[in-house]
Amino acid sequence: MKNKERMPAIFIGHGSPENAFESNEFSETWQQIASSFVKPKGIVVISAHWTNRLDEKVKETSITSSKKLETIHDFYGFPENFYEFSYNTPGHEKLVEKIIANVKTIKIKRSNEWGLDHGAWSVLAKMYPEADIPVVQVSIDEELAREKLFAIGQELSGLRDDGFLILGSGNIVHNLREIVWQGKPYDWALEFDEFIKDALTKRDTKAIINFENNPLSKLALPTVEHFLPLLYVVGASKEEKAEFFCEKIFAASLSMRCVIYR
Ligand code: ZN
Repeated sequence: MKNKERMPAIFIGHGSPENAFESNEFSETWQQIASSFVKPKGIVVISAHWTNRLDEKVKETSITSSKKLETIHDFYGFPENFYEFSYNTPGHEKLVEKIIANVKTIKIKRSNEWGLDHGAWSVLAKMYPEADIPVVQVSIDEELAREKLFAIGQELSGLRDDGFLILGSGNIVHNLREIVWQGKPYDWALEFDEFIKDALTKRDTKAIINFENNPLSKLALPTVEHFLPLLYVVGASKEEKAEFFCEKIFAASLSMRCVIYR
């Protein structure tokens, strides 16, 4: 029987930080999806913008253990008001302890130095504008075998039954060098996005975990950090059907596809 209190596992294609400042077809849908289920007790965020490659202070996998998570403006070349934007949430010590206890695949280290990066706040500010839900971010170790990232997701899945939302934030196709703002989607972007959609629909976890075996992945993901949060989310799903929203390639080379398991 389906647990009515169970929180979803969601992957959001976040795209540009602009989405936090605009009401558009993406950010409005994020808002709608958050209002389609009860408020979580806390949120576990896995963001493409906190990895051991992007944050040299992070060794292996870290978790935010501060009482309050503050806004990090980890982007360049945007208007000044983007850098003044603030979205701060409470942390959640009990949730940190639960995650450290539940995850056996790797050892997770506490960090008081990270807060909310824009992969987290650009989405959360739309989903929960009141910033009243505690958040814990878990970093991504890009060096880990992809199976292990999936396994960490599986180890997090039980938290959903305790009222915690699992939220991955990245993009299934993410090639910043090939962006054309008003451009039509590239064929390779459409094809790779469709390949992953198909694998998610069929629950072909092997194809998802081994996404780098698809030759199009080199173009779709010159670096892989935006894809990796999806592995945790699929890991945290429980044989549920993948439901899709925001199925669109934006700026020719960014897939805004979002997935929810509930
Ligand atoms: Zn991003």
